[in-house]
Amino acid sequence: MADKIPTICSNRVSDRAKKTLDIVAKFVQEECIPADAVFDAQTGAGDARWEGHPQIIEELKLKAQSLGLWNMFLPKGHYKESPGYTTLEYGLMAEWMGRSRTASEACNCAAPDTGNMEVLAKYGNDAQKAQWLRPLMEGKVRSAFLMTEPQVASSDARNIELNITREGNEYVLNGQKWWSSGAGDPRCAIYIVMGKTDGNNKDPYRQQSVVLVPAGTPGITVNRMLNVYGFDDAPHGHGHVSFVNVRVPVSSMVLGEGRGFEIIQGRLGPGRIHHAMRTIGAAERALDWMLMRINDPQKTPFGKKLREHGVIMEWVARSRIEIDASRMLVLNAAITMDEQGPKAALSQIAEAKVMVPSMALTVIDRAVQAFGGAGVSQDTPLAYMWANVRTLRLADGPDEVHLAQMGRNENKRGEAVTKQIQWQKAKSEQLLKERNLTQVQPGTRIQHRINKAGSKL
Ligand SMILES: Cc1cc2nc3c(=O)[nH]c(=O)nc-3n(C[C@H](O)[C@H](O)[C@H](O)COP(=O)(O)OP(=O)(O)OC[C@H]3O[C@@H](n4cnc5c(N)ncnc54)[C@H](O)[C@@H]3O)c2cc1C
Repeated sequence: MADKIPTICSNRVSDRAKKTLDIVAKFVQEECIPADAVFDAQTGAGDARWEGHPQIIEELKLKAQSLGLWNMFLPKGHYKESPGYTTLEYGLMAEWMGRSRTASEACNCAAPDTGNMEVLAKYGNDAQKAQWLRPLMEGKVRSAFLMTEPQVASSDARNIELNITREGNEYVLNGQKWWSSGAGDPRCAIYIVMGKTDGNNKDPYRQQSVVLVPAGTPGITVNRMLNVYGFDDAPHGHGHVSFVNVRVPVSSMVLGEGRGFEIIQGRLGPGRIHHAMRTIGAAERALDWMLMRINDPQKTPFGKKLREHGVIMEWVARSRIEIDASRMLVLNAAITMDEQGPKAALSQIAEAKVMVPSMALTVIDRAVQAFGGAGVSQDTPLAYMWANVRTLRLADGPDEVHLAQMGRNENKRGEAVTKQIQWQKAKSEQLLKERNLTQVQPGTRIQHRINKAGSKL
């Protein structure tokens, strides 16, 4: 709720956003979290899991709209379609939504639609916006972003191979994609596809382009849906999709041939902040569950409630510290993004992208441990939460890629700090010399005394 906004950023959150934050928190706690079980029950079993979507989502969407909770993710000042919240303000809302499986979609703030809508709002032309952005913003259709491919190391997007060849007034697409999140949903109407238009371009960052492909275009086959640690994420799902001579009009190109890298870079900044804040919400919910379990009067191993066992209070305290510290990191990235633009926020966003999922996994794991066997079962939300958060160490680029880049950036200071340290050492020596002193090494005086006393040591 608004009174829980960290002091460090409270004065940057408008009164309007504070009011909305209270509404979001109440909506999530009282409507969405209880509805999560209905979502699971209505998803059904077997093939039916991919043939429709739980009706509860439509009910929640109507409630969210009546409360004014719709498309809050589109940042203020960047888009005329924005409801007017800053990245910081939306980040605080996203944290609440991250506590529930249904809340983000109920408010039309679910990935990958959010990132895809930003692509269309930022880079799409008027016709593309009318055709795809409008229905997405109205919550009438859903979308998928298709970049990753099974046959290449896709964390290096230069490797992407799906071929896009121009033939007359059409582009023809051939290739394979996987981890196409959202492709399982029958409402998924549009694929935003990255592929190669100019493999011979000397600049590897100008070889790729992004095109809009309607999901039902002939030549597209969803071969299978991938599981995440055994969870299929139906009806959303993660598709393995093949393209055989898929034809789209040249007007489907976004921004222009060779601009794919520019688009994917622009897409990921705010999305990473949203993911990170939702993940903090998940960690908070895991901590809530842990608190419930450790105070359970029915469960008294070795004659005491769990909370009376020393280590458990340490888990609780460490979880609180780690969640709060991570939140600061993400909100700082959000503020930098709002006040200095996405480029200035790049390193803070990367820090958040790496730190938050690892933090949340640790907190969730402590909660799992506190529950014993129940923690890994379907009787708590923890097992699904863990599987879901674990994927964030891979999705939008694996940790190592961000760490390698951050390490290189940090190491740029290497030469300068070496010079500074050497200068400081030289100055110390000079100061000692001026005072006729020698540098004392720890232990040397004791050694000197012992030797004088004739000890063999
Ligand atoms: C649940 C889920 C949802 C996803 N949703 C989407 C989606 O909607 N659209 C989409 O296009 N993709 C999606 N992805 C794919 C995801 O973005 C990729 O899996 C990720 O970018 C890694 O690419 P890769 O799987 O090809 O692994 P690879 O590129 O083969 O990398 C494998 C491993 O190599 C290591 N590695 C890579 N680079 C370095 C380096 N520089 N230094 C050290 N080690 C390194 C890392 O440990 C990495 O995990 C999703 C993935 C998951 C799990």
